[in-house]
Amino acid sequence: MVRFMKNWSDADKLRAHFDGKVAGYLHANYPIKNISWFRVGGSAELLFKPKDVNDLKRFLFIKPNDVPVAILGGVSNTLIRDHGIEGIVIVLDRTFNYIKHIDVDIIECGAGVPSKKISNFALKNNLGGLSFFNTIPGTFGGAIKMNSGAYGMEVADVLVSAKFIDMEGNEYDSHTPDIGYSYRSSNIPDDMICISATLKGSMTNREEIIQEINRHKRQRDSTQPMRERTGGSTFKNPTNIKAWQLIRDAGCADLVSGDAVISELHSNFIINKGNATAYDIEFLGEKVRKRVKDRTGIDLEWEIRRIGVGPKVEL
Ligand SMILES: Cc1cc2nc3c(=O)[nH]c(=O)nc-3n(C[C@H](O)[C@H](O)[C@H](O)COP(=O)(O)OP(=O)(O)OC[C@H]3O[C@@H](n4cnc5c(N)ncnc54)[C@H](O)[C@@H]3O)c2cc1C
Repeated sequence: MVRFMKNWSDADKLRAHFDGKVAGYLHANYPIKNISWFRVGGSAELLFKPKDVNDLKRFLFIKPNDVPVAILGGVSNTLIRDHGIEGIVIVLDRTFNYIKHIDVDIIECGAGVPSKKISNFALKNNLGGLSFFNTIPGTFGGAIKMNSGAYGMEVADVLVSAKFIDMEGNEYDSHTPDIGYSYRSSNIPDDMICISATLKGSMTNREEIIQEINRHKRQRDSTQPMRERTGGSTFKNPTNIKAWQLIRDAGCADLVSGDAVISELHSNFIINKGNATAYDIEFLGEKVRKRVKDRTGIDLEWEIRRIGVGPKVEL
């Protein structure tokens, strides 16, 4: 078992580079595990939460070119490795947490909005087609990148357009076909920051929306461990078959690695029972992949994004 976190020795120097030049929140050696669903992982060398779009642009403009940047939302689909993330992590909150009407059936949401809030707003305004956001953890920014979805709907079905900022601070508008969506994936480059997007719903009877949300909640609670330390579905579903079925049928239920275990409720969910490390979780995931591959010949693809540095997983 691997248990060590490291402090980035140049983190204060990196922070000092921005001190007094930006208005947002800066934190050297920020323990990302505090905001991660898995509650694992090392520190970000520097965390930045911009005050607003202009502050973000200013930050990117003065950022040293050789420092890597990662973007995170609610960290519900990401495993942060144990030694942490070198360079800068940008998280959008506050000013990016808003929803407003653009038209009677079109809303604009900031990328920092919790996905659930979109469904609540839609309900209040009799907008159908957006209920699937209700049970998806994390932020809208993460959902846009991952093409998140549930119950037969996904972001690509309702997204009209999105605004992005590149590492030089240039702003772009993209329409859904340009984003290259496919199942739980998009062509959005890792260095493009989504700041907001518009969604189209359809005017629907409020009672119908309530019933739909309740149906989703009931289904969720009975089939998925929503209150555990997890990252949701570990692997994507291969074409025409569910990953959880492959994992169950390959006899993976009893596989463990430290405090990382397979959920009893949903075999495609890995759970941190308490003191698992990111290594434990990744190691367990690789054990599952190997067993499924040995028994079925199918190569499962990670849906959870793994970022940062840590010990290399070798089976
Ligand atoms: C219990 C549980 C249940 C889940 N159920 C579902 C489900 O039903 N359906 C589903 O699709 N997913 C599900 N997930 C996975 C996850 O909640 C979604 O993928 C979610 O939309 C990720 O959002 P996030 O803000 O947490 O993203 P993060 O984990 O923070 O980031 C995910 C990716 O998005 C990128 N990103 C984040 N914000 C931005 C931004 N502003 N601009 C550009 N890139 C950005 C990150 O760089 C990273 O690559 C579940 C997770 C959990 C823990």
